Amino acid sequence: YELSYRDLRHVMGETVTLLEAQALLHSIELEIRYGEEPLWVHGVENQLKQVFINVLKNAIEAMGDGGSIQIDCVREDADVIIRIQDYGPGIPREQMAKIGQPFYTTKDKGTGLGLMVSYKIVDNHQGNVSVNSTLGSGTTFEISLPYNSPEE
Ligand code: ADP
Ligand code: MG
Repeated sequence: YELSYRDLRHVMGETVTLLEAQALLHSIELEIRYGEEPLWVHGVENQLKQVFINVLKNAIEAMGDGGSIQIDCVREDADVIIRIQDYGPGIPREQMAKIGQPFYTTKDKGTGLGLMVSYKIVDNHQGNVSVNSTLGSGTTFEISLPYNSPEE
């Protein structure tokens, strides 16, 4: 596995490009926002992309047709935070503890592996994932990774 320093703005930008066709198919807009400062993280770029793909695909699948998904990338002290917010149906309280468990899916053709793999990758990067969901209004996945500049 190739460890490197990466500006998360670029990693996320490329991930969004990969998923744009799928989003467009459902008339969903992927809105990415970040500031002028580089958001350095240290890790395996392809694994981090896999995390963002998994979470963004879930968001697209939750939204149905139309609307937009907000992707915010910011630095907060020692962390880089990525918030991915959808306006889908939300996750019922009793399902919250189950998502991310292997093979837990509510989809006809789901595998129930995407979040488990994502949590594992983020954990391997000394990061953290938290989920905030409101029934009927949507879900936000917050992924934090340690800020790690190549110049320090
Ligand atoms: P899969 O997508 O194959 O079902 P995942 O591990 O990616 O497996 O997700 C597990 C479950 O978590 C999904 O089946 C769904 O019930 C729930 N889930 C994940 N993301 C969202 C979301 N953005 N909105 C609503 N439910 C979600
Ligand atoms: Mg999934």
